[in-house]
Amino acid sequence: MQKVHNFCAGPCILPQEVYLKSAAAIVDYKGSGVSLLSMSHRSEDFLEILAQARALALSLLSLDSGEWEVLFLQGGASMEFTRVAMNFLHKKAGYINSGVWATKAYQQAQIIGNAVQVGSSEHTGFRNLPRLEKIDTTLDYLHYTSNNTIYGTQYQEVIQAEVPVVCDMSSDIYSKQVDVSSLDLIYAGAQKNIGPAGVSVVFVKKSFLANAKVNIPSILSYPCHVEADGLYHTANVFAIYTCLLNLQWLEKQGGVSNIERVNETKASLLYKQIDAHEFMQGYAQKECRSKMNVTFDFVDKEISKRFDALCLQANIVNIKGHRALGGYRASLYNALPLHSVEVLVEVLQQLKAEV
Ligand code: PMP
Repeated sequence: MQKVHNFCAGPCILPQEVYLKSAAAIVDYKGSGVSLLSMSHRSEDFLEILAQARALALSLLSLDSGEWEVLFLQGGASMEFTRVAMNFLHKKAGYINSGVWATKAYQQAQIIGNAVQVGSSEHTGFRNLPRLEKIDTTLDYLHYTSNNTIYGTQYQEVIQAEVPVVCDMSSDIYSKQVDVSSLDLIYAGAQKNIGPAGVSVVFVKKSFLANAKVNIPSILSYPCHVEADGLYHTANVFAIYTCLLNLQWLEKQGGVSNIERVNETKASLLYKQIDAHEFMQGYAQKECRSKMNVTFDFVDKEISKRFDALCLQANIVNIKGHRALGGYRASLYNALPLHSVEVLVEVLQQLKAEV
């Protein structure tokens, strides 16, 4: 039984069984006498782990392995900001600016080539999602962020365009049933719904991969990683195995459609509280709210202090907002138990009784 209610935005809580299995494998991987931390990434055991992780990563998103490549790479989602532009930005790419991470992706692409902004919600403090401008059909690709982890806004549908679409799904991948097959490249830092930090997962459509530039440094080249079957260099064996355990846990929960129901329940319980109490307010505009990261604050600093004290008593941790925004952020990723949200709701009700 977990002792704390961990609302961390990432690296986030993972299921207890994942911690236990991963820890056991660090001591001795399946009775082989070899620790997971000391296993060759070219060994039979690891090749099996990687094959299973790739297959499950695809099937949980209902993506066809004939059409898509999947890679577990190092460098986190931030590396993909650069890698995407290095590979696919030939003449001009469009970036939707919906928050800090979207801005970073855009800025990195600008270093590499002609990246243009095609919508921004910066003027509202990123409280909402940008209105999509008419998309220039000559763009090499359109880039957007499906869930804005810091501000707590989320697209409920996949963006469709006449140009290839690239999506940073770092903070809502595997959280809800959505048809992502129209996208051309999806990437995500693992440390939310996939597994531990230290690896990013990239799904790239084979037809889009054909547009990748040649003559770029190998480590940055998607075709190079694909040609090496995901093992161009030393893989993050520990992180990939733990991702596999976490994806297997998700499969056992009944997959994405079942976890979506739990996620809906968690988010609606919390938003109901936010809307019910005048002493607190949500950050994101209602119609753009994220079901993964719930951002809020209290009108009065004294109430914030009392909330902090009640959280401490209730063993609620990592609920402060991102340093760029302040306030509070409850991250409700897949592995956060419903019970943790119920405890947070009790705290808010107690706060209400006191003010
Ligand atoms: N994109 C999004 C949506 C994120 O939430 C984050 C990190 N929280 C990143 C990108 C950057 O990820 P990383 O730290 O793995 O580079």
